[in-house]
Amino acid sequence: MNRKNPRRTLFVLLALLGGALSPGLVLAAAPPAAAERDAGLDILLTQKARDILERVRLVDGQARTRRVEVSADIAKGVVTVALDRAFLPADYGPSFEDQRSEISFGLLHWAEQAAPFSRVIFLYDGKEIEHYFPEIKAADDAAREAGEALRRIRGTPGSGMAFVAAGHGYFYSYKDNRWVTSRDEWNGVSEGLLTPSYAEELKAVIEQRSQMPVVRPRVQTMGTTHPPSGEEWWTIAARYAIAEQYPGETKIWNTYAGSALWDREEREDINSRPLLANHHRAEVAIHLHSNGEPSGSARGTRVIVQPGRPMDAALAQSVLCSMKELIHSLPEHGAFTVAPAPHALDKGENREAHMPSIIVETAFHTNPDDAKALLDPVFRSAAMKGVEKGYRLWATGKACEPLALQALPDVEIPLHSSREVMVNFAGNPQYPLTVEVSVADCDRLGVCTPWEGRFDVPGEPVKYKTSCTSSKPGVVRWSVLIRDADGVTAPPVEFNQACVRV
Ligand SMILES: [Zn+2]
Repeated sequence: MNRKNPRRTLFVLLALLGGALSPGLVLAAAPPAAAERDAGLDILLTQKARDILERVRLVDGQARTRRVEVSADIAKGVVTVALDRAFLPADYGPSFEDQRSEISFGLLHWAEQAAPFSRVIFLYDGKEIEHYFPEIKAADDAAREAGEALRRIRGTPGSGMAFVAAGHGYFYSYKDNRWVTSRDEWNGVSEGLLTPSYAEELKAVIEQRSQMPVVRPRVQTMGTTHPPSGEEWWTIAARYAIAEQYPGETKIWNTYAGSALWDREEREDINSRPLLANHHRAEVAIHLHSNGEPSGSARGTRVIVQPGRPMDAALAQSVLCSMKELIHSLPEHGAFTVAPAPHALDKGENREAHMPSIIVETAFHTNPDDAKALLDPVFRSAAMKGVEKGYRLWATGKACEPLALQALPDVEIPLHSSREVMVNFAGNPQYPLTVEVSVADCDRLGVCTPWEGRFDVPGEPVKYKTSCTSSKPGVVRWSVLIRDADGVTAPPVEFNQACVRV
């Protein structure tokens, strides 16, 4: 910390507040003027960045530094992390991307308590990483152009196929000279060993509901053991499973041939995923991960897209909206945090893809409650149904909107007759639909009979008959509720039915 900094008192105050800091306190700690509030947030984020940089695992070429300034542009939703060139890696690879992601989500956890943010930009001596590694920008531009060219030629980008990739898995490290996973175990979750169950779930629901074949690079079967590692095949990174299935396609899985880098096979693994999706001309690429962040406090679902790709951002937005709907349909996860909008970060898995590509970070394995959710098969199923639904709505040009009943007018029905009640609703429910009509109030106990019905065919009117079979007039207040096949429920709507003598 710079001891001459005039804002030191505020630093200390913010640092002391530590983990208990709330957005209200951020504002309270800063002077009242609007512009100064931003300064308070910048100071907090800079302090948090210093804490993270003190502990973060360095990648090759980096020197430990605490020289960092963070500024948050609330209007644009951008957090900028200004570092110096001592923090440049020797080479741009997955460890570096992981580190940036850890820093990003560590900072977003604090920033987003004050305002929504969608992007984190890193500067090294004032310039973005592409300035030092122009090949990254070249790969990004090439993939974007290839994708646009494909869409121009065909109108639609692909083959009717979806690509689903489970993140990470064992790869061979030439530093340790052994097979390693790129993620430590946190709260009982080892990311690369958890993601295959998510991919399997998503593959099944896409095949069933989107009616698309799904390619998965990592495989569940193929013998039991991967001989070189002695590990089970399902635990092995995509690169090796692709090499086994497509031995001649070295351009997909052997992109670092001849390299002496210790993590060359991990790098090949990251690249092999989008390159296989491109090879299959998939319509969409969905990468499944869990998230990590050093403090352990960040929670919730995020979806990451490549900066400057509006189609991917629209897909990600729809996926987040549907994941929220499905996850919140579970009573025990009714308040689970789902990001309101995608986050733009440069990631190898999205960057090389010729089709809309998203990284779904379902929850933070670094947070104990999120980790518990990740290990819960009910949560997993709801989350993956949400991903599929978000994709399907986006692909068919439908907006993700909450399931909601329209108001039902009060009715008067002559004794010994009946009439139809039309149940109109907004949203995109999964059929069959259940309509539950229960008694909110009945002026003659035992005379009003609840009703439940099932509707199987999407698009057909949802209606039922209500009648007055009694010989005496009376009034009933009905409560109507609809529930879809996934357990998504619209809030109940009530109306009065009067049985009248004519
Ligand atoms: Zn990951």
